Amino acid sequence: MILKGAPVVAAMNEANAARCAALREKGVVPTLAVVRVGAREDDLSYEKGVMARCAKVGVEVKQFLLPADAAQEELLGVIACINADPSIHGCLLFRPLPRQFDDRTVRAALAPEKDIDGITDGSLAGVFTNTALGYPPCTAQACLEILKFYGIPLSGRRAVVVGRSLVVGKPAAMMLATVTLCNSRTRDLPEVCREADIVVVAMGKAGAVGAEHLREGQVVVDVGIHVNEEGKLCGDVRFGEAEPLVEAITPVPGGVGTVTTSVLVGHVVEAAEKTV
Ligand code: NAP
Repeated sequence: MILKGAPVVAAMNEANAARCAALREKGVVPTLAVVRVGAREDDLSYEKGVMARCAKVGVEVKQFLLPADAAQEELLGVIACINADPSIHGCLLFRPLPRQFDDRTVRAALAPEKDIDGITDGSLAGVFTNTALGYPPCTAQACLEILKFYGIPLSGRRAVVVGRSLVVGKPAAMMLATVTLCNSRTRDLPEVCREADIVVVAMGKAGAVGAEHLREGQVVVDVGIHVNEEGKLCGDVRFGEAEPLVEAITPVPGGVGTVTTSVLVGHVVEAAEKTV
């Protein structure tokens, strides 16, 4: 089975649109602030996708654009305005920021209740303590949303997460069942992966996982996004080898990435609901 993102997105869009409509009836317009410093190509393309998804379900977007050479104080000023503005429910800040910014200071400036992208320490603490502080990083949650949508049970099943970043690997591991969290020093990764029922790959290495890591009956979630030598998008998993072997796998493109945007929009709606 190919675990396509499109049906998951369609279901989430429908739910988000209904919740937006209910909020608008109460006079609340769910609103996302998008803060971009400079104009990196991948930021622009993600921004375009987010704006289209917001428009589709009825979330308003306010853009805050700063030049690539903006000073940290300017950005902190923008974030302070967003924190203080009750009409804004969530904030998406594009990172990595240019060199002149201290990432930690900037992240810490955002109010956790508006951190719909899970970038503050408060949001991460929420994931690790299982409390509703902030919001989980969207990509990690997207992996779980896909498994949930396709009715793939987690209970009692062994999961391996390859990659331990704070954006994907670690939070995904916290939200899964019995987990082994792997990193670049893990010995015999293929054997460790083959032991799992569910393999989440967030390694950031194009085509690094293939048939030697996988076996029949597994569910594979491929988080990686790369542009290959032919200029086509591909994942961390060699799809052509994996797909005939395993029970189910997410494609790249059309898998985790597309669901990530809907998770983000869902967080904005949830943040707006909390203000009613
Ligand atoms: P990252 O910060 O570079 O982390 C990669 C992780 O993989 C690290 O923890 C690293 O271990 C581990 N790793 C590297 N080589 C390994 C190996 N040979 N064996 C086991 N572990 C290994 O990457 P990221 O930000 O988590 O992103 C991962 C991928 O997901 C990237 O391709 C990125 O483009 C993609 N991504 C997709 C979305 C989406 O919406 N679909 C969103 C974000 C990211 P160490 O800690 O030991 O270095």
